[in-house]
Amino acid sequence: MKISLNQTFLIYKNQTPNRVYEVSRNYTTKPDTVSFKSANVDKEDAYNLRNIKDLTCACCRKKMIPEADFEKLKAKDFEGPAVNVLKKLKPYYKKMRPTEKTVYNLLCRASRKDPQADLNTLIRKRYFYHLSRLEEKQLKIINNIITEAQNVSPQTQKELEKIINKTKEIIFVESKEYPQKRGRIIKEFAKLKKIKQDKKEISKILKEIEKLPSAKNDVDAFITKYKHRGNREIGQRLLSTALPTLDHIIPKLKSGHDEFGNMLVLCEKCNSERGSIPYPIWFKMHPDMPDNIQKNMDIIIKEINLGRLKNFDNYPLEVKNTLKKVTQHCKKQYELNIEKLKQTTDTTHSSAD
Ligand SMILES: [Zn+2]
Repeated sequence: MKISLNQTFLIYKNQTPNRVYEVSRNYTTKPDTVSFKSANVDKEDAYNLRNIKDLTCACCRKKMIPEADFEKLKAKDFEGPAVNVLKKLKPYYKKMRPTEKTVYNLLCRASRKDPQADLNTLIRKRYFYHLSRLEEKQLKIINNIITEAQNVSPQTQKELEKIINKTKEIIFVESKEYPQKRGRIIKEFAKLKKIKQDKKEISKILKEIEKLPSAKNDVDAFITKYKHRGNREIGQRLLSTALPTLDHIIPKLKSGHDEFGNMLVLCEKCNSERGSIPYPIWFKMHPDMPDNIQKNMDIIIKEINLGRLKNFDNYPLEVKNTLKKVTQHCKKQYELNIEKLKQTTDTTHSSAD
């Protein structure tokens, strides 16, 4: 039996022009907050670390938006004409991540044509265009998977057919009110992991499905997802991927400690992309990262030396040791340079009479 879903999938898509997309506007306006993932560290210290001016991400080296700036922005009004809201976001444009920059520019253009419209209205007007583009991309990936799976065992084919049928349902049939489909589709495909044979093909399939566009790396996915969100959430979301977050070097899942010495400051985009990928693999995917960690730590060390970052005197050394530990079996063990750190002077004896 050969999988011949390729065709059925496309036919299926062609049968769906009458879908009803309209959804109620009773969505919540919960802001997209980025926290330090419930880390068990001092909240004020964590805030200070995420509030360093012009700190660059340890992964992508792009500058991040300090926590306090974001707090200030959150207090602003996001309702009313998008032109006004976009003006408030403009000072942070340079620090926005690429997808958000494109969405920002697109909204600026749209708001000039439609000066009274709010952010949500502008996004809703573009929804169908971006949705169809997104669906094309999703289909392409599913079709690649079907091609990839031509030579797998009947058991794998059977399971895959079930998964693909479910995927079709998620993409084309079910309510458009819940557009966060990517994670659920990936979860469907993860069922293949239980199959004992076809390991190589399954691993290729799982890699391919990860390529599904997400709102963080694809404008079409962004517009599709945020059609259902309020003005405040859309506005804040344009900045949230550039916020500093604390990434556990050894993931908590792998019993990594919940301490600063096990944490690097990464932008939200990089942190969420990494998930719990081990650092040696993550380094291979981001060959510039060793340099970028150094740059990030140099800025932090400068803050410590200037006395602007209290309670972090041991942080560079602890991170250095953690990075050494996780890369100990790599060709080149990672050696963070912390020589610029001024030794804290021991003042305990100076006050002696
Ligand atoms: Zn980054």
